[in-house]
Parts: sequence; structure tokens; C-alpha cells
Amino acid sequence: MKVPFLDLGASYLELKPEIDAAIQRVLSSGWYILGPEVEAFEAEWANYCEAKYAVGLANGLDALILALRALGVGKGDEVIVPSNTYIATWLAVSAVGATPVPVEPDPATYNIDSSRIEAAITKKTKVLLPVHLYGQPADLDPILALARKHNLFVVEDAAQAHGARYKGKRIGAHGDVVCWSFYPGKNLGALGDAGGITTNSPELADKIRVLRNYGSRVKYVNEVQGVNSRLDPIQAAVLRTKLNYLDEWTERRKAIVSTYLSNLQGTDLVLPFVPDWADPVWHLFVVRSSNRNQLQSNLAEAGIGTLIHYPIPPHMQEAYVDFGFDDDAFPVAKMLSDQVFSIPIGPNQTSTQTGIILEKLSKLL
Ligand SMILES: *Cc1c(COP(=O)(O)O)cnc(C)c1O
Repeated sequence: MKVPFLDLGASYLELKPEIDAAIQRVLSSGWYILGPEVEAFEAEWANYCEAKYAVGLANGLDALILALRALGVGKGDEVIVPSNTYIATWLAVSAVGATPVPVEPDPATYNIDSSRIEAAITKKTKVLLPVHLYGQPADLDPILALARKHNLFVVEDAAQAHGARYKGKRIGAHGDVVCWSFYPGKNLGALGDAGGITTNSPELADKIRVLRNYGSRVKYVNEVQGVNSRLDPIQAAVLRTKLNYLDEWTERRKAIVSTYLSNLQGTDLVLPFVPDWADPVWHLFVVRSSNRNQLQSNLAEAGIGTLIHYPIPPHMQEAYVDFGFDDDAFPVAKMLSDQVFSIPIGPNQTSTQTGIILEKLSKLL
């Protein structure tokens, strides 16, 4: 029996009648750009995230780019980003003409180490951009305090953290703008590309709403040089359906995690560390081993899918060769790329599948 890394088809099939009806509703409505379905999702998503406003966008990368544009970030500005993240975080900064300035992660949580941020702040710094990586919130209070002290904005990359809580409060409006991806594999995923932002600022919500639609509020009147990055109403309808199940699906992820943790304790694997203020949603279950490559290929032979998040840190990517970073410039990020791997987790993973993974791992460890 094979265990896929993530079975997206199973998640669709679980909700097929409801999702199909939601899609039919949009098809029959005759309204295919923005409109009531997108507005309804925005209201429901803002409410879920304990934020005042949500704006639906085409994808998560655009959410980051438009958040930075709305804050006036551009050429000559610096944005502090984690050295350990999916490259989209860096690419958004580069896309607006600013410079990503990497800060190493805390080796325990793999999220940006807030105690190392201040040393990276310069006169050019405009934004702190933490990522809630793998579904675990970054330590926001010290980051927000630094932002107040140095007069900086905070943009959160929450593409992996739908429903996560920091000190009891949902991720969604701690910083100035919180950016979401609804890529199919995320905890709340569309059936195609989708993204959005949440914020408590009416001005920033308004700016991003205008930017996503050609810089236009009134048809054929363009206030700014905007883009086309609108959330598709069919995807909005899918997301509205799935949002009703997000908490239940997170509970299923948590149940798998507790089985993993109780069975893998005391092995050679370095298990995820959860600070007491964090309520993670386990987008990924990331473990660490100095024998990672061997373990991964043995699991693959047994039909168990694993992935590495991420095999090449952004500073070592060809895309950033112009920055001239040494591979060892960010040793914690590099060590993680050498040692981490993610074992399967998802709302439709059966206890039989979880058992197969643990049985195979127990023979290998
Ligand atoms: C998925 C992801 C993004 C980008 O989202 P897209 O919708 O694929 O553009 C950005 N940041 C992180 C951390 C992600 O995981």
C-alpha cells in the first residue's frame, strides 16, 4: 500500500457534492469576475481570521507583492525576511524593487529568530516580513515591538498558517498586512491558484483592492498603475465550502501529529518544537536527521512519499546569485536544507496510512 505525500483528490471527493454545487452556483449566476461570491468569501475569511478586512487575490505571491506596494515599499528599501522560507517571500520583495535582507531562523522552531532581527535593521529598512513556516506562528510580540521602536511595517507571510493562533489570537491582523495563499496544497486550498490578504487597516485594504483591479475603483478610471490579480469567483465558492471544514481538518492533522510525536519520541529524529504560546496548524510535519537522504530513499522504496521543505535555501538559489552570498552565509538555513524532510500529513490521511509510515520508520531508525 502506497502512502502519498498529500492526497488532494481525496479532499475533493470528501466534499464533492457541496463543492460541485458551489461551482454550479457560480456558473449559473452569470457573474464571473469579482462580485458577490468573492465578497462573501472575503467577509467570511476576515471573520475567521479575527481581522476587519480581507481582500481576495489571484495567488499568495501577489498578496505579498501588493501588500508591499500598498505600504509604498520600492527601490532602495530593505525588507527583513527569513533565510529559511519558500522563495516566494524573497521574490515578492525583489518584485517591488526592494532588497530582501535575510535573518537566520531559531534552530528550535525554524521560524525567524527575533533576537537576531535588530542587528539587520538599517536606515533603509522599511518592513519586517516574518513567515509562519510549516503552520507554526513566528514569535510576533518581539517583532511587533521592534517595528514600533524603529518605525517599521510588519507584513506576515501566512501562506502556511490558516487558523494558527499566536498567544490565543488567530493569525490574521497582528501585523499591518497578513498575506495568504490558497494554493491547492495549503491547509485551505482552492482548486487552482488563489490568494488574499487580511488587515485591520481600512486604508490598506482599500489600496490593495484598487491595486488588484488595474488600479481602478470606477470602471475605466485608473488611480494608480495596478495589476490584474483578482480572486476568481469559482475559487471563492470552493474556498467558502472548504472553510466550513477547515477547523475539523486541522483537528485531524493534530491527531496525526500526536500519534507521530508519541511514537517517534526517543528516536534519532529531531521532532518539531512547539513553544507554549504557539497553536500550530501543521501544514507540514517537518523532522530532521543527519541521515536524511538515506531515510528518504528507504521510505520512497516502501512507497511512502516525503518532501524537503526546502532543498535549496533562497540565498543559494541561482535566482539570487547576484547577491554574492556564500553557501555558508546563513548556516542555520543551510543546515536545515541538508537535514529536514516532511513526512505525510493531511486531512484525508487514514490511521492505516499513518501506521504504515510509523512501522516503516521504526525499522529504519
Ligand atoms: C505557498 C507559499 C507562498 C506563495 O503562494 P502562491 O499562492 O503559490 O503564490 C508564499 N509563501 C509561502 C511561505 C508559501 O508557502
